[in-house]
Amino acid sequence: MLTDKIAVVTGASRGIGKEIALTLAAKGAVVIVNYNGSASKAEDVVREIQEAGGRGEAIQCNVSDYEKASELMAYVAKKYGRVDILVNNAGITRDNLLMKMSEEDFDAVVSTNLKGAFNCIKHISRQMLKQKSGRIINVSSVSGVMGNAGQANYCASKAGIIGLTKSVARELASRGITSNAVAPGFIDTEMTQVLPDAVKNTATEQIPMKHFGSTKDIANTVAFLASDEAGYITGQVICVDGGMAM
Ligand code: NAP
Repeated sequence: MLTDKIAVVTGASRGIGKEIALTLAAKGAVVIVNYNGSASKAEDVVREIQEAGGRGEAIQCNVSDYEKASELMAYVAKKYGRVDILVNNAGITRDNLLMKMSEEDFDAVVSTNLKGAFNCIKHISRQMLKQKSGRIINVSSVSGVMGNAGQANYCASKAGIIGLTKSVARELASRGITSNAVAPGFIDTEMTQVLPDAVKNTATEQIPMKHFGSTKDIANTVAFLASDEAGYITGQVICVDGGMAM
């Protein structure tokens, strides 16, 4: 259980982040449901948490904005007195072949996916150091482990997350703070629902288990990494991908 733990989940208005928020709340955590543009969806997630007897609130913040991320973490630390769990889940794609990829699309993806995680970790680390405890869980991707044609920006950001995760783990391990990454394979969310059928079929062929994963598969792994049972695990990348990256 995660009773009374204070958790921040970035990009929790839908998809994987929503499922992580619902799962942590069901285990007793107070969940800060972060979103960027989808206010009403984030409020719906909070309502769902509350209707199930849990606690949480929705807070808007573009995590790629260094100052705004600072304000988000300061607000949570002040209001709740501590932050036990940070899940860096917010992410976007702007897929294209390298030759056609614009500088803008490269910067946007790295800025949200990688710098966003850095911003949140940076601004919560002082509070976690003060507490001498904390769980940082970053959502990477098998694309960051294996690479993927048409996703140079996304793969670079997700591989960067792995380096960030391990560096933070080494810096903070002696202070009771763990830092791990979860690398999902193909998961059924809005991000993958927009893919053409041909791409989905090719992807399915590459998965040893021959089907996409569910958001619950990722949320359960995140909940485990946030739990007391995972207290001796740090600096790891757990692929939840039906065997894709092995
Ligand atoms: P999704 O359905 O597109 O949801 C993305 C979430 O990120 C939304 O809640 C969105 O909020 C939020 N977000 C985007 N930009 C943000 C920003 N600048 N600041 C704060 N929040 C922001 O995506 P998903 O499929 O659930 O993916 C979640 C994470 O898992 C991502 O990091 C993704 O790269 C990773 N992942 C997904 C898959 C997959 O197959 N789906 C596979 C591997 C890894 P708003 O709607 O408010 O903008």
